[in-house]
Amino acid sequence: MSDRAGFDCIVVGGGPTGLAAAVALATSGLDTAVAADPPIETSDAGELSSTAGAPPVETRTAALFPPSITLLDNLGVWAEIRSSCAPVTGIRLVDDTGNLLRAPEVVFRASDIERADLGYNVPNAALVTSLGKAAVRAGVTVLREGRVLAASLDAEGATVTLAGGRRCEAKLLIAADGRGSLTRDAAGIGVRRTTYDQNALACSFSHSRPHGGVSTELHGASGPCTTVPLPGSASSLVWMHRPDEVRLLQEMPASRFLERLGERLGGLLGSLSELSARRAFELKGLVAESMGRTRVALVGEAAHAFPPIGAQGLNLGLADIAVLVDLVVAARKSAGDIGDPAVLAAYDAARKGEVQRRAGAVDLLNRSLQPGIWPLGLARGAGLHVLAAMPSLRRRLMLEGLYPPRPLPSLMTERATQRKSGAGARG
Ligand SMILES: Cc1cc2nc3c(=O)[nH]c(=O)nc-3n(C[C@H](O)[C@H](O)[C@H](O)COP(=O)(O)OP(=O)(O)OC[C@H]3O[C@@H](n4cnc5c(N)ncnc54)[C@H](O)[C@@H]3O)c2cc1C
Repeated sequence: MSDRAGFDCIVVGGGPTGLAAAVALATSGLDTAVAADPPIETSDAGELSSTAGAPPVETRTAALFPPSITLLDNLGVWAEIRSSCAPVTGIRLVDDTGNLLRAPEVVFRASDIERADLGYNVPNAALVTSLGKAAVRAGVTVLREGRVLAASLDAEGATVTLAGGRRCEAKLLIAADGRGSLTRDAAGIGVRRTTYDQNALACSFSHSRPHGGVSTELHGASGPCTTVPLPGSASSLVWMHRPDEVRLLQEMPASRFLERLGERLGGLLGSLSELSARRAFELKGLVAESMGRTRVALVGEAAHAFPPIGAQGLNLGLADIAVLVDLVVAARKSAGDIGDPAVLAAYDAARKGEVQRRAGAVDLLNRSLQPGIWPLGLARGAGLHVLAAMPSLRRRLMLEGLYPPRPLPSLMTERATQRKSGAGARG
């Protein structure tokens, strides 16, 4: 904690992207502060005693692709959380829409692209706690008031007003304050919104049949129901459905829920037990019209949010951070202003295309499952037929899905020292 009021960067938001951005900027030598609501608590010795950012009961996990895992390794958190994560060695897509023309099952396997895994399934709670500790170790200043109430921006710099009225200044604000970002609004950046008549239920459970490292997406007419491997005989679940149905699924007794889930999975994972807490997430799509403007760079859900299909959300958020950090470090090295319009324009140019492409693809896939939009459903079915028959196309799609456009930013590139010592190895 500190009463200092001037920084190179202030990160607004203490979710996974905000904390990862704070660690990355501080370890790159930038004087960085974080304002997180709920506030991050540190002891007098500067150690983390509780972490902000995670919702009260965080039941989500994130399937993170290899470049994101490399980034976590480079930020010094992977070794700590690895034992609570499981490798994903395959992704199986199953058409369960009940359409007359049933599409074939398609399996993307890591071995098809000569990899041991396609990434890891990472519990959000462990990730946020570990990033919070890394932020304290990296010397990030934790602004004890937590919540940012207002931000004023001009050509010279940015000023945030914290809960209680204290003001802090920075050359650059990182808006990591989620979908309803106040920082994004302060910069006058508009968003394109998409609404869905769907919510998602997230939880985890144990099962008697092994998952074999394979994540299964059952594509049903009300949305996908996806299981993702966790260590041992356990999996996380994302079940998308109509909001009223998600409420029922969340509120029914655990034993009844496991029964319903068992029926939905059709025996895929055997008998089910040890259900965790269940949490519902409202699904709203959002793409910002610009990734940065007037001293503000958007990262994570402040810039893009969409339904949890294809594990794109946090992977994109971590790629935002990796690209931004390279640009900011280059500006600092050339003795330039890290919040200069040219830096933000370069960031926007580097990220906007990929964000729009991936958000568009997720939206299209989700809509293709809805009953009544039969041309899209037909196209999806035809696409799955082609994918099932063409291994080369599957390989190409996998590589494009897993990796952001090249060249990879430095934080997503394995460091030479780690390669030598094996610290970056992912078994
Ligand atoms: C069910 C589900 C499953 C998912 N699965 C995957 C997956 O497999 N792979 C994947 O890549 N992604 C996945 N995602 C997406 C991923 O969870 C999100 O992309 C990620 O959590 C967003 O993190 P964030 O830090 O950008 O935003 P948030 O987690 O929303 O964090 C924003 C933080 O800012 C704080 N804040 C807000 N306003 C202020 C303020 N004024 N001052 C200070 N702090 C403020 C908030 O309290 C919050 O702590 C999934 C999402 C869902 C819903």
